[in-house]
Amino acid sequence: MPSVDSVVVGLGVMGASALYELARRGRDCLGLEQYWAGHPLGSSHGESRIIRQAYYEHPDYVPLVQEAWRAWRDLEDATGWRLLTETGGLMVGRSDSALVRGALVSAEQHHLPHDLLDAAALMRRFPAFRVADGDVGVYEPRAGFLMAERATEALLSEAQRHGAAIHLGCQVQGIAPEGGGVVVHTAEGPIRARHAVVAAGPWTPALLPAWPVPLTVERQAVTWLRAQVPQWFHPSRFPVYMREETSGETFYGFPSLDGSTVKLARHHGGEATSPGRVSRHATAQDIAVAQHFAQETFPALTLHVAQSTVCLYTNTPDRHFVVGPLSQEAPHIVVLAGFSGHGFKFGPAIGRVAADLLEAPEAGPALFRPDRFQGAAPT
Ligand SMILES: Cc1cc2nc3c(=O)[nH]c(=O)nc-3n(C[C@H](O)[C@H](O)[C@H](O)COP(=O)(O)OP(=O)(O)OC[C@H]3O[C@@H](n4cnc5c(N)ncnc54)[C@H](O)[C@@H]3O)c2cc1C
Repeated sequence: MPSVDSVVVGLGVMGASALYELARRGRDCLGLEQYWAGHPLGSSHGESRIIRQAYYEHPDYVPLVQEAWRAWRDLEDATGWRLLTETGGLMVGRSDSALVRGALVSAEQHHLPHDLLDAAALMRRFPAFRVADGDVGVYEPRAGFLMAERATEALLSEAQRHGAAIHLGCQVQGIAPEGGGVVVHTAEGPIRARHAVVAAGPWTPALLPAWPVPLTVERQAVTWLRAQVPQWFHPSRFPVYMREETSGETFYGFPSLDGSTVKLARHHGGEATSPGRVSRHATAQDIAVAQHFAQETFPALTLHVAQSTVCLYTNTPDRHFVVGPLSQEAPHIVVLAGFSGHGFKFGPAIGRVAADLLEAPEAGPALFRPDRFQGAAPT
């Protein structure tokens, strides 16, 4: 049976990040992926991802995103590829919305530069936006977007440069702790390893059916609408943004990367699904949701849909990540899962945490501990 030090299962952004970090630490490691790098069937595709620091979800994410920001820049230096474009980020909503309040808490607690704009100031500064009286915006300069497929590709290419092996088109059928190590069963036969990192995204529940963490997979449609005044959406004058509506629904979007269309989507609000049965095409209902938001918020967008895609979120009940050992008995198998629609930006920082956990099982951030759900019924 072939044998390596560490196997990484799944090469979306999280598996690619773990493989990169393990290879950098000089481990003999192998990454296994059932499809191909950058494929559109999981969670890491669709051109772009927001990276922001005034983290409304919880202030504990701020040091991690700052670490990841530096790591993305290091990867750019190593590969010569442009991965991260700084555009500034704008969180819009009522002043008592979770988005605005949370962004301010993180900004203040971590001394992040930011401006609080009222509706009139916001529309003066960013003429593409139309917001209601009483809306406010938290603007932070240190935010922007990552090129999604290119970033994953950069991680994999640097992992290989540091000696990692990659096997694409190889489906893992099971992972079994054995004699202090692990046997990874694949369609092409078993592989023995000392350690494993499982980063199977929305396939995690199928791959680890006995794992007690309650994960749910959610379908997310994304659309690109054509702009009437494209210069208002240029990355030099239009930030990445999130907007929480009074209904509680949240939308987000990007500047125009091609000079004519802009990508936007609703955050959550999709139906529960699984990778095997999800409908992978945007429906008339998906498009109507995006158009309605665009019409309300961006008068300079047309309703013409130039492109669309479907992507999957893997959610935890509290929407914080799950990064930790498979079980107390198997600390040498680390699971990275439940990124709940906001994980991409953290990739290299999560890769570092995964590698630390293999060296010291207690090393992970408390917020991400898998055992916080003990006793919770699967949802
Ligand atoms: C529409 C959308 C918008 C998003 N926007 C943002 C954003 O702006 N900012 C942000 O930070 N995050 C964002 N996210 C979240 C982020 O993209 C995800 O958290 C992240 O991509 C998760 O990566 P992953 O590697 O865990 O999963 P995946 O990318 O799904 O990777 C898992 C991989 O494992 C492979 N695999 C699974 N099972 C097996 C098996 N048995 N054998 C071999 N291989 C296997 C799969 O083929 C897949 O390639 C967004 C997500 C979506 C869907």
